[in-house]
This record gives sequence, C-alpha cells and structure tokens, in this order.
Amino acid sequence: MNYTEQNGSEIFNIDEPIWISKNEKLLNIQFDAKFDLKKIKNSNKRLWRYEDAIAIDQTKGIVSMDEGFTPIEKIKLNKKEVYIKHEHLFCSGSYKDRGATTLITKAKQLGIKKVVQDSSGNAGCAIAAYAAKAQIECEIYLPENTSENKIIQMQAYGATINKVNGTRKDTSIAAYKAAQINYYASHCYNPWFFEGTKTFAFEICEQLNWKCPDSVILPAGNGTLIIGCYIGFTQLANAGIINKMPKIVAVQTAICSPLADKFFNMEKRENEYSSNSIAEGIAIVNAPRSEQIIDAVIKTNGTFLKVTEDEIKNTWKKMAQTGFYIEPTSAATIAGVEKYILESYDEIIVSLFSGHGLKSKFQFEVN
Ligand SMILES: *Cc1c(COP(=O)(O)O)cnc(C)c1O
Repeated sequence: MNYTEQNGSEIFNIDEPIWISKNEKLLNIQFDAKFDLKKIKNSNKRLWRYEDAIAIDQTKGIVSMDEGFTPIEKIKLNKKEVYIKHEHLFCSGSYKDRGATTLITKAKQLGIKKVVQDSSGNAGCAIAAYAAKAQIECEIYLPENTSENKIIQMQAYGATINKVNGTRKDTSIAAYKAAQINYYASHCYNPWFFEGTKTFAFEICEQLNWKCPDSVILPAGNGTLIIGCYIGFTQLANAGIINKMPKIVAVQTAICSPLADKFFNMEKRENEYSSNSIAEGIAIVNAPRSEQIIDAVIKTNGTFLKVTEDEIKNTWKKMAQTGFYIEPTSAATIAGVEKYILESYDEIIVSLFSGHGLKSKFQFEVN
C-alpha cells in the first residue's frame, strides 16, 4: 500500500501526512482491494462494510456516522426504468459524506489537528461535519456566491468560514496557499476522498446482486464520484467480482462544460465558461483532476452529455412533483439520464440523486 504520483514515478509511504507529492504532482493510492462477499453480506449496512477493500485500518478507529449503503430505487424516466441511488440521504445532505468519512478518518489516524478545505458548498459541509465529529479544527474557503444555507450549515458544525472575493478558482488558490501549512482536506486533491467515493461502485454492484450495470450516469464537476467509481469498478474487476466495466457517462451543464468540450475536441477559452449555473455544484472551470476524469470516461467507453439550464429546471420540477426534493445540481444529472435513455433504451442504467434540495438557494416557480 503506497501513494503513487500521477504522471510521475515516485512512491510515498501511506502514513505520511501528505496530499500532494513534493514535486506537486497529484497522488493516488495503490492498494490491493479484497472482497469477501460472505463477510460483506454479514456486515453493517454502511460503506465501511467493504473494510478489506478500503485502504484504511479500521481497528485504529474510524470517524463514521454509519453512512452509506443508500437505498437504490427503480424510477421511471422517459418511460424507462432506471436505478437511482438516493445519495441525498447522507447526514450532511450529499454523497460527499462518502469521501469525508474516509478522508477525516485518515487525518485523525495521522494525528492531524486542523484541516483546510475549499468548496462551492457540499464538500465543505461534509468535511465540516466529519471534522466536528472527529474534533478536528476546520477552516473552509468559499466563493462569494455560495448558497447561504450551506454556509449556515458549515458554521453550525463549527467551521471557520473564509469568503473569497472573486471566482471559484480564486477560492481554490487561497485554499491551496493555506494548505502549505495545514492539511488539505480537499475533495479534488486529497486521494483519501476517493477511498470513500469508490464505495458508490461497490454498493451499486452489491445492490444489483454483484452484477455490473451497463452504464452509470454521473455529475462531472470536480469528478470526485467519477474518479471514485472508476477506481471502485476497476478494483471489483481486478478481484474478479465483475467481468466488465460499466460505461461512465458524465454530465455537465452547457454553460460550463470544459471537460465535455475537451472530450469532443471542442475546447473553448476559460473565460467562455460561466460558473453561474443553477447547477452550482458542477459549474467547475478548472478541475484539478480533469485528465483523470476524461480518462475514466474514455477507458470505460463512456461519453459526455451537456444539459441546458432550462432542461435542468424542468427536470428539477418533474422530480419534485414525483416526490423527490433534490438540488438543481442533482437535477442536471437526471436531465442527462433522460437524454441518454433516448439513445440507449436497452441498457441497465444506474444514476443518483446527488444532493438534498433543502439547502439550495434556487427557488423555481412550479407552474
Ligand atoms: C459535488 C456535487 C456534485 C458534483 O460532483 P463532482 O465530484 O464535483 O463532480 C454533484 N451534485 C452535488 C449535489 C454535489 O454536491
């Protein structure tokens, strides 16, 4: 078990308190995941049930709220049934808790006393929640346009808030600076976040009786779920649990689609992308792991989809009117599912509600 450099060759000890290599290259965790299906079946219904497949020693204590193993429900969209995982049902209101439980557990085991993080919202809420649970000091950098309810939530957990003048990128730069002296609990950089998000793939397979769907349709902002899924399904395949990889289909909003455009060789200039989407959680112009995200889509034979602001709004309303109160960001993914179905009607498709609607700043008229 080691850290390996992305596009580099150095290897680092897994118990070093680092989140990037000394050559400033991204780190990944090299680990041989094991799956004992009988043992898993008899374990608590939470994401830590895959203990031999998570690169953390649970006997040293974990920071957990018994999160995960979210319900999976068949829902009819465009006259076709797709599997939707209810990832808005985590303690802090989004699937980001998956990454927070593993990252903060590792930080606690490393003896970290303070973490910094930057986020357009939900990642900050998740890290703040788990830092509070672990009694680790937490400082969050936010862009000015962050939803007020998310800020209130982070402050309630006891996090210190730093609003940064300027764009989401300016916020990341400020946090990156602060992370030169503090441990960076970043969902984009810190590889321990993906040890958690990868369990989304494990749960999907287990909930489909250890079968692999044909495609998983995921949001693409910083790609924490895409990268997690890619790692998770790869580990399942390497262990011989599944015999193929699902296609990873990544959804972006049309006004901020740098990854999709790069995938289709239609990249625009940075200033042509707007982060003022109602899908605030995926309006990301510079994802630090963009190369890894696009690679996951290419290697699984997947694709990118773009959805317009109107499509997001319409899907959001439709979901609310069938009982699901989700974030507009989550509606973007579902709008992508509705589009994808039109082309791939025969596939077994899994997607998700990524975040809860209660904390969103956007209110739409329903009629
Ligand atoms: C973070 C987030 C996303 C986007 O995920 P990435 O990992 O940044 O691609 C989608 N929906 C919600 C609710 C989120 O919080």
